Amino acid sequence: FAERWPHLPAMLADAARSREVEALVDGERRWSWGRLHEDSGRIAAGLAKLGLRPGDRVVLLAPNRAEFVLAAFGILRLGAVVVPVSMREAGPGIAYIVNQCAASLVIADPAVAGLVPEGVRRVLLPGGAPRDGWLPFEDLLEGPADWIDAAPGEEEPAALLYTSGTTGAPKGAVLTHFNLVHSVLHYKHMLGLHAGDRGLLAVPASHVTGLVALILAMAGCGGALVLLAEFKAAASLALLARERVTCTLMVPAMYALWLREPSLADTDLSSLRVAGFGGAPMAPATIEGLQRSCPGLRLFNAYGATETSSPATMTPRDGTRLDAVGKPLPCADIRVMDDEGREVPRGTAGEVWIAGPMVVPRYWDNPQATAAGFMAGYWKSGDIGTMDADGYLRVHDRKKDMINRGGYKVFSVEVENCLLAHPAVAEAATVGVPCPVLGERIHAFIYAPDAGDREALRRELAARCKDELADYKTPDFWTWLTEPLPRNANGKVMKRTLRERT
Ligand code: ATP
Repeated sequence: FAERWPHLPAMLADAARSREVEALVDGERRWSWGRLHEDSGRIAAGLAKLGLRPGDRVVLLAPNRAEFVLAAFGILRLGAVVVPVSMREAGPGIAYIVNQCAASLVIADPAVAGLVPEGVRRVLLPGGAPRDGWLPFEDLLEGPADWIDAAPGEEEPAALLYTSGTTGAPKGAVLTHFNLVHSVLHYKHMLGLHAGDRGLLAVPASHVTGLVALILAMAGCGGALVLLAEFKAAASLALLARERVTCTLMVPAMYALWLREPSLADTDLSSLRVAGFGGAPMAPATIEGLQRSCPGLRLFNAYGATETSSPATMTPRDGTRLDAVGKPLPCADIRVMDDEGREVPRGTAGEVWIAGPMVVPRYWDNPQATAAGFMAGYWKSGDIGTMDADGYLRVHDRKKDMINRGGYKVFSVEVENCLLAHPAVAEAATVGVPCPVLGERIHAFIYAPDAGDREALRRELAARCKDELADYKTPDFWTWLTEPLPRNANGKVMKRTLRERT
């Protein structure tokens, strides 16, 4: 492939050969691959006219709207580096990223333009009042139509993605052209993607799944991308049926909301061929619910991280074991290691280390974090997993979320799944709280909006954990939430916030 797609601009040019084929759907607005390519070429030319050069970092602060895709493709075709930032990021977080990557330009949606720091050049997306000191995005689109693409080297950065920070200060993972072309090929191969596919982008475009699994993978197969601006269960199902979506990849919390949505039963999901989940463990209760509601749909588990630019393991095409995160992708080298960095035998739990063409080489301008996070070409995931005799990987918990109760190791996810299996429990999370005697005890946070007698429910849940897991895996403390669990922009439970509440 290196000859055909040595970098992403070559891949985008390939997609544009099917000029008339639909490429992008944003509400009532539609782009063919031909028009999308013309527009992104004008943007590349417009950026060059502003003085931007290959290698420059451009922060893109936009929701799932067509301009996100146009701008990202324009930046890539200039040979510059896309730095997508979550729309839910607060002012200090945006300023941190703009400074950390020494951005040359920020392109922002009007809804968040007020949060962008001064002192950097700024472009305003359509939809709001003009702002002083900002260039309108429309001006970029006035560039000439005969743009000649840059040809970045395969090790050049294509995107910087700052990890969402559930564990500390954000680090900018450097996703190279090599990483991303391989990731797209993996998606194509594993999901059998082709030009007739229509992918639903329901997760944020700024997250690795949105950017790579949907935006780039749909370009790689020459299919269409259907944008959902903001996730609402009913709206996503209606859009899916209207646009005859064939594939998507979402976080487990979204599927759980689908199952609670009354219109699911009447939605025509017949076009949907494959649906993936990842980013966090999916409760068995949600998997079973989906299998019941959508018989025939190929569900797959995808495990990866920002640092792996795409999944490192996936449920194989003929696989049914959705409790495991799947098998390593053809080019992924996955090892399970003990605390001393020695590989453990199959069936034994340890930290998951990942190497392969999808693994990023480093964090941006952060040698300390790079030295701590990578070893001998492997990225150390911080996840505890087990590889079984059949080559399936199970991910039990994040190392830092595992609870050590008097020497007994308790995977928080296991307790949560047991709690979630109770029909009255909408959401559940467990964290370890310090205990002078046992080291840690288990604190459960439960969101059960329809539960009547909480004390009775608590007794039922405690008995369930004791019977199905073990007495030492039964939560010691319980907090009843009046609203859903705190989650970050990518739908992950913010356990740090919960620990502060214990
Ligand atoms: P930070 O690294 O700063 O904590 P983050 O965890 O939100 O941020 P991501 O790259 O979005 O960063 O998440 C990667 C992590 O998500 C993995 O290391 C793993 O813990 C979890 N994860 C991803 N896919 C799955 C899956 N299929 N099943 C279980 N957990 C998953």
